[in-house]
Amino acid sequence: MGSYLYLQCGDSMSTNTKVHEVRWNPLLRQWIIVAGHRGHRPWRPEEKGFSCPFCPGAPETRNLGEWDVIVLPNKFPALTMNAPQPTHGVAGLFRARRAIGVCEVVVETPSHEGDLCDLTLDHAKKVIDVFTEEYLKLGSLKPVKYVAEFRNKGKEIGVSLTHPHSQIYALPFIPPRIRCELKSFRNYMRRRGRCLLCDIINLEYREKVRLIYENKHFIILLPYFAMWPYEVHVYPKRHVQALPDLSDEERFHLADALRVVTAMYNALFDRDLPYMMVIHQKPTDGKDYSYYHMHVEFYQPYRDRDKLKYAAGIEWGYWTFTYDGVPEQKARELREACYRALKKLNQYLGQVVAIG
Ligand SMILES: [Zn+2]
Ligand SMILES: [Zn+2]
Ligand SMILES: [Zn+2]
Repeated sequence: MGSYLYLQCGDSMSTNTKVHEVRWNPLLRQWIIVAGHRGHRPWRPEEKGFSCPFCPGAPETRNLGEWDVIVLPNKFPALTMNAPQPTHGVAGLFRARRAIGVCEVVVETPSHEGDLCDLTLDHAKKVIDVFTEEYLKLGSLKPVKYVAEFRNKGKEIGVSLTHPHSQIYALPFIPPRIRCELKSFRNYMRRRGRCLLCDIINLEYREKVRLIYENKHFIILLPYFAMWPYEVHVYPKRHVQALPDLSDEERFHLADALRVVTAMYNALFDRDLPYMMVIHQKPTDGKDYSYYHMHVEFYQPYRDRDKLKYAAGIEWGYWTFTYDGVPEQKARELREACYRALKKLNQYLGQVVAIG
């Protein structure tokens, strides 16, 4: 509301930290979330002597009783259901809309340290169940077109709170990367009458060299077309579009796969590795996406033990990626890391894929 009056008084938009809207980028045909208030969110409060907001006993979690996994509203949401109506940009090239949506935090455990691989398998399954429930709950809200569920870990990725947590953004639009994937799946299905990812999985099984780990329902691999060092994908073997399509047993096996990837990442350079985990599911706008195949993608920031890989001119400025190394060789390194990781994991459901 404040931003309204502020703008109507003729103040310059650039100095108004209350601006909260989505703006259309007509060059790239995508929405940008503008959230002036997020510039002020705290960086690692516990390093400055403040207590962790996600630990048991913190004001945020105090009245919730005993919990394993909890969902909290994001205190600095990029999107809210009561976002103000922008007063400018209703038509024309400079278009703006309400930044309507929901931002949540999934606190995965009461304990302050750790990663998905440090949770028991049963506990990790509860995290997947929460992702599934929130996908259904947020996806059923009328303005929500897409539920983005993801996990960032580590300072290098810009994570402001260390306590193990994931995030959910319920978006009022389909994000561009998903739109791009949907188009590829739709075109492939039209031309061949088959699913793009089901065919990729079959080819990867035939070539085998990039496979890393599999359990009964999921496969972990480094894709043939990887864009980023040690990029890892997790594919359900069955053709499903979103988490709610998975059976209880399949969700248990997904929890296993995610624990294995994170343990493998930590074993890779024998230290806590930062990463981004993104779940790619179908949109929630009610249309038919039966041609889509859900999956999980992992990205981490190192190209070698101590060398960060940057998205610089050619990557960021042209979206053209150079892969430093050979994917098949990197897959072998990851398989070796996976063997080491499984020795430390107390419980797992599958095995490293044996290559000839
Ligand atoms: Zn904590
Ligand atoms: Zn498929
Ligand atoms: Zn994807």
